[in-house]
Amino acid sequence: ADFAALGLRPELLRALSGLGYEEPTPIQREAIRPLIAGHDLVGQAATGTGKTAAFALPLLQRFGPEAQSGPEAQSGPEAQSGPEAQSGPAPRTLEPGARSGPASLVLVPTRELAEQVSQAVHRYGRELGVRVLPVYGGQPISRQLQVLKRGVDIVVGTPGRVLDHIERGTLQLGEVRAVVLDEADEMLDMGFAEDIEAILAETPETRQTVLFSATMPPRIDAIARRHLREPLRIRM
Ligand code: AMP
Repeated sequence: ADFAALGLRPELLRALSGLGYEEPTPIQREAIRPLIAGHDLVGQAATGTGKTAAFALPLLQRFGPEAQSGPEAQSGPEAQSGPEAQSGPAPRTLEPGARSGPASLVLVPTRELAEQVSQAVHRYGRELGVRVLPVYGGQPISRQLQVLKRGVDIVVGTPGRVLDHIERGTLQLGEVRAVVLDEADEMLDMGFAEDIEAILAETPETRQTVLFSATMPPRIDAIARRHLREPLRIRM
């Protein structure tokens, strides 16, 4: 099976072939369809399996193509994004101004992973003009504030800094439709369990929740049982 057979939209298929991805990895083959269909998922998978694309492509699949030819799709001054927003060359076409916060939130353990994942999302979503913001400690918060104010579609952040923004009132998660907990075991090892709980409490209960972890100790399983709804479980 190729990526087209998984039902991915043409903008994503073109991005993938531009990146030289010829066929889905096993985890992508198993995860992409159910994630597009809206299922929760627990994936036991290590780095290198292609897990990032496995969760990122379904997040991107959902961005509404209907605005593409509307007058709002024209590039205005507010569509220009700063370097931090990693917005693609295409004009912003996604429900302009319709949301007061991101549609998707990806939590990761480290700033390096926040950068890597947001770059991957940006590359896959380049034709969609998706606005992705990496958010982590050690970065000047003022620049993150500016970008958040202009609006972002996907936040990829470490739990501590994401919670910091929530508490400052600079990040609203009431419109979030999907949350990904990436490298969940690492996040727990780094002491982020309480932060993750506090962040999830800010998101709608109707959200889709996806959890990836290299290992599945009981603490991870407990989080999955508490926060995911009848998740599909896959193991690579
Ligand atoms: P990850 O496990 O998400 O960290 O991905 C590992 C590496 O595999 C990254 O460099 C990806 O760009 C690459 N990759 C992911 N999916 C594919 C694919 N289907 N074909 C080729 N390379 C891929």
